[in-house]
Amino acid sequence: MRNWKSDQRKRLHAEQSGLCFYCDAPIGWDPDSPGHPVLEHHRPKCRGGTHESVVLSCGWCDKTKGLIDGYHFKALVQSAMSSGLPEADARALVAQESAARNLELKSEHIDRLNRKKKA
Ligand SMILES: [Zn+2]
Repeated sequence: MRNWKSDQRKRLHAEQSGLCFYCDAPIGWDPDSPGHPVLEHHRPKCRGGTHESVVLSCGWCDKTKGLIDGYHFKALVQSAMSSGLPEADARALVAQESAARNLELKSEHIDRLNRKKKA
């Protein structure tokens, strides 16, 4: 049985010219390589993401993005990458900003849960 994931990976890989949706790094096909294709929910599942909103991202972006909305994360990555910083520094900057944003998102999420409990 073929699952939708492997078909979708192939389709997205062609659509994105083999590049990560967020940082434009080439995505390899070797499943053992760190850059193997990752199906990333463009909008986190808990915030209404569906199969339709899936893109291919590299392992680094998949790990770093966390709960951040895909459009926001892409803007963050693209502005850091075009800032003239060496790539490693740009990625470190994105990782730092993402970590801070994810903390905020997590605490907002906990606030929402607490409000629901009280209601
Ligand atoms: Zn990437």
